[in-house]
Amino acid sequence: MLAECCLCPRHCGVNRLIGESGKCRTTSQVMVSSYGPHFGEEAPLVGRHGSGTIFFTFCNLRCIFCQNYSISQLGEGSVVGSEELAKMMLSLQAKGCHNINLVSPTHVVPYILEALELATNDGLYLPLVYNTGGYDSVETLELLDGVVDIYMPDMKYSDEKTAEQLSGIKGYPQVNQAAVKEMHRQVGDLQLDESGVAQRGLLVRHLVLPNRLAGTGEVVRFLAQEVSTNTYLNIMAQYRPCYKAFDIPQLARPLNRQEFSEAIDLAHQHGLSRLDKAPNSLLLKLISG
Ligand code: SF4
Repeated sequence: MLAECCLCPRHCGVNRLIGESGKCRTTSQVMVSSYGPHFGEEAPLVGRHGSGTIFFTFCNLRCIFCQNYSISQLGEGSVVGSEELAKMMLSLQAKGCHNINLVSPTHVVPYILEALELATNDGLYLPLVYNTGGYDSVETLELLDGVVDIYMPDMKYSDEKTAEQLSGIKGYPQVNQAAVKEMHRQVGDLQLDESGVAQRGLLVRHLVLPNRLAGTGEVVRFLAQEVSTNTYLNIMAQYRPCYKAFDIPQLARPLNRQEFSEAIDLAHQHGLSRLDKAPNSLLLKLISG
């Protein structure tokens, strides 16, 4: 797949094995910007000891409002080999993290698999979280069947043109919905252990954008009617304009309380009741009225 890269639905066709790169700007060298226990993720991932995040440099999306743009777009990070990546996973496990949380993994799947083989041989047993922007191909996801325990995709947009304008991608809604269905087929609804820590399943993130740009109504309809009303969904209120968002007048302000409440109401109206609550109640206090 890397020889004529078709790892993600962009299908760039470049030979990454000889150093070519496509839209994700990644060759055969994987870069990581940081790794460590993270306490800002959803409660079922954080538990008491944190989620063991590994932030991969670059991304197959080009979101103009990306809050991590220095990593995803500007390439902040260092090259790591498979052995080093495996050691990172094992060190997160040794620190007591509840999972290995692979952030922006889509464009580096083969290298993750290579590192996992080394890490599992040396005793890695934690659940794996595939934390993605949601522009994933079913073919690549099928390679992860039985490997990934928790899928955490974004569902960013319901409208194709908005996705093209704001993230520079074609066909996002269709690709994203097919990917989420495949993820749910593999792992089902999110399952927690007796202390509320996620073990397996699907956890969907949806960042509400100002002026209804994220198309929340269709996202929650799809999840309720075509995936499961028991889907664990984090409707996120923390949108703030950054990077190039100021170039788009509709994106040039934070979300307001009414927009966020409308998104929550839509989810409830469609019968989705497993909504991530704690961070949002905090955020509701923070966003403007
Ligand atoms: S992983 Fe990168 S090079 Fe491969 S198809 Fe996607 S954007 Fe293109």
